[in-house]
Amino acid sequence: MPPLPDALAARLPSPLEEAADARFARRGVRLLLKRDDLIHPELVGNKWRKLAPALREALASGARERGTALLTFGGAYSNHLRATAAAGRLLGLRTIGVVRGEELADRELNPSLARCAADGMRLHFVPRADYRRRTDPAWQEELRERFGPCLLVPEGGSDGAAVRHCAELGRELRGLTDVAAVACGTGGTFAGMAAGLAPGQRGLGIPVLKGGFLTGEVRRLQREAFGQVRGDWWLDDRFHGGGYARTSPELEEFAADFAGRHGLARLDRVYVAKLLYGLTVLVSEGAFDRGSTVTAVITG
Ligand SMILES: *Cc1c(COP(=O)(O)O)cnc(C)c1O
Repeated sequence: MPPLPDALAARLPSPLEEAADARFARRGVRLLLKRDDLIHPELVGNKWRKLAPALREALASGARERGTALLTFGGAYSNHLRATAAAGRLLGLRTIGVVRGEELADRELNPSLARCAADGMRLHFVPRADYRRRTDPAWQEELRERFGPCLLVPEGGSDGAAVRHCAELGRELRGLTDVAAVACGTGGTFAGMAAGLAPGQRGLGIPVLKGGFLTGEVRRLQREAFGQVRGDWWLDDRFHGGGYARTSPELEEFAADFAGRHGLARLDRVYVAKLLYGLTVLVSEGAFDRGSTVTAVITG
């Protein structure tokens, strides 16, 4: 595969920073922050890691010259749609975003979708019942007929190639931590990272969606990417805070305090705040051995 163009140049391996935090120090645990949020200014964090293979393939197949679009799926606040739209602008590729929720079409675009549109993404709003068919080949065919030649990228960008590419995140952490923790949406980033860790290291996933379905999904993604389930990992389902993008005054306060203590200019509330909150609860419960190192991946 050819290298990615300069517009997608990434800061890799992403920086690893010590976070002196009394809640961890008290338990003899070292906390590190893996700053994937600094990989690329516009394709933030794990979105760069997940989209890079699809973008490389699109460019190699002549998508730009032929006007082939990248078509993908997401909710109204999807970071994945934002990253895909930004990539389209940077690379001169057409992008189409299939957005869950037909009613959104009649409203003013929220800031996230407005950014997508400003980056040239064509937004196509569909009823939730249709959106549920996003992996159905018959419906995908209808979308192709409507929009012309396109390369389909799955929701969240999590396909086999993306998961394999996320294994690099795990490899970057070899020898540097005992536990590597990531917030999970589709679980693709976590599935890859956990597979890339060395024997003896463990992956911890914190789902931000309610439902407890993610263990099966991470296994499925690892089978798709590697032909088998890989790595030593577990999920803790207690920290979704009521569901996707749900927040609370308590989480808000925690996030503002954590960002202030550790000099983070912004702290993503949908994913990263829930991860960090979960880790502080787990460390207070004695979940990590004294003398061990825990790394939180700041995915965006
Ligand atoms: C998309 C996203 C995730 C979740 O990634 P998955 O691979 O879908 O689990 C985590 N953190 C941030 C900041 C994200 O934007």
